[in-house]
Amino acid sequence: MNVPLLDLKAQYAPIRDEIEPVIRDVIESQYFINGPQVAACERDVAAYCGVAHAVGVSSGTDALLIALMNEGIGPGDEVVTTPYTFFATAGSIARVGARPVFVDIDPVTFNIDPSRIEAAVTPRTKAIMPVHLYGQLADMDRVCAIAARRGLVVIEDAAQAIGSAHGGRRAGAIGAYGCFSFFPSKNLGCFGDGGMVTTNDPARAGKLAVMRMHGMSPKYIHKLIGGNFRFDTLQAAVVQVKLRHLDAWTEGRRRNAARYGRLFREAGLLDRGLVRTPAITTDRHIFNQYVVRVPRRDALIEHLKKAQVGCEVYYPVPLHLQECFACLGHKAGDFPESERAAAETLALPVYPELTDDQAAYVVDTIRGFYG
Ligand SMILES: *Cc1c(COP(=O)(O)O)cnc(C)c1O
Repeated sequence: MNVPLLDLKAQYAPIRDEIEPVIRDVIESQYFINGPQVAACERDVAAYCGVAHAVGVSSGTDALLIALMNEGIGPGDEVVTTPYTFFATAGSIARVGARPVFVDIDPVTFNIDPSRIEAAVTPRTKAIMPVHLYGQLADMDRVCAIAARRGLVVIEDAAQAIGSAHGGRRAGAIGAYGCFSFFPSKNLGCFGDGGMVTTNDPARAGKLAVMRMHGMSPKYIHKLIGGNFRFDTLQAAVVQVKLRHLDAWTEGRRRNAARYGRLFREAGLLDRGLVRTPAITTDRHIFNQYVVRVPRRDALIEHLKKAQVGCEVYYPVPLHLQECFACLGHKAGDFPESERAAAETLALPVYPELTDDQAAYVVDTIRGFYG
């Protein structure tokens, strides 16, 4: 058997007949930039997230960047975030000239540990950027309470978390901004790069719409310096169609996660303390990734590869130890939970089309490794 980490062809086949006509419509219209599908897609995503406004942008990375630019965050400013995330989180902070200030993660959720945030806040801090890693919300009640107390903006990195929810609120509807990615491997992926920024604040939304067009309003008049952060009409058309299937796909991922939990238990791997399955601490985890903690992780990866089971480490080097951030002056040991997670975690296939037999094969293969 061969179990890929993700099978986008299996996702596409049943929706091909819905997608092809909308792509053809865009091509026939030749309206590739700011076509009507962009505004329609923004309305759909805003409604889905339960937020007042959504502004389509060129990627999840640019969603983070434009949110920071929209707040005027730059040199001399600090933004508190997690080192255990995809590079774009801290990369966007550095790109506006601000300093990413890292705070270690909670080892159970892998999200920023709210009990450590306040100690990292200084008079230069402008924002907190929590990441809803793997599809589960960070502890937003505590993050937002600190932000309110200290007068900080909360920018949610919700790239992995569209549709995740807690206490009746969805990712992207809790902080001042929510930043989403439509990179193909995200739960709602387009056919290339794309992203969206959500906000409940009409003034922030209006400014975002100007910032993504070089800060231009009206035409050729620039009161602000923005960039080309536009969302392609073609991608908007694709996202609109795929959004209609998102809840069914999410339920598939959640079902697969629950199934893994049962299979690992039946295999004795939980009781023997060999596999630690993800902790569900919020109302709706959307499982962009299903990440376990295991001993002898790197040897297990070799074993899984030989057995043709796809797996991946998200992420092997925490950001404070990346060479490009040497200027921040960190060393190994500064954020021990992030470093431990980077050494022990492994993502297993959890995509919605994963079959019973495939999931059983993954668990059997892991049991075979530990004997
Ligand atoms: C994917 C991702 C991004 C960046 O999104 P792109 O669309 O690839 O630019 C940012 N943050 C996190 C946590 C991500 O997973």
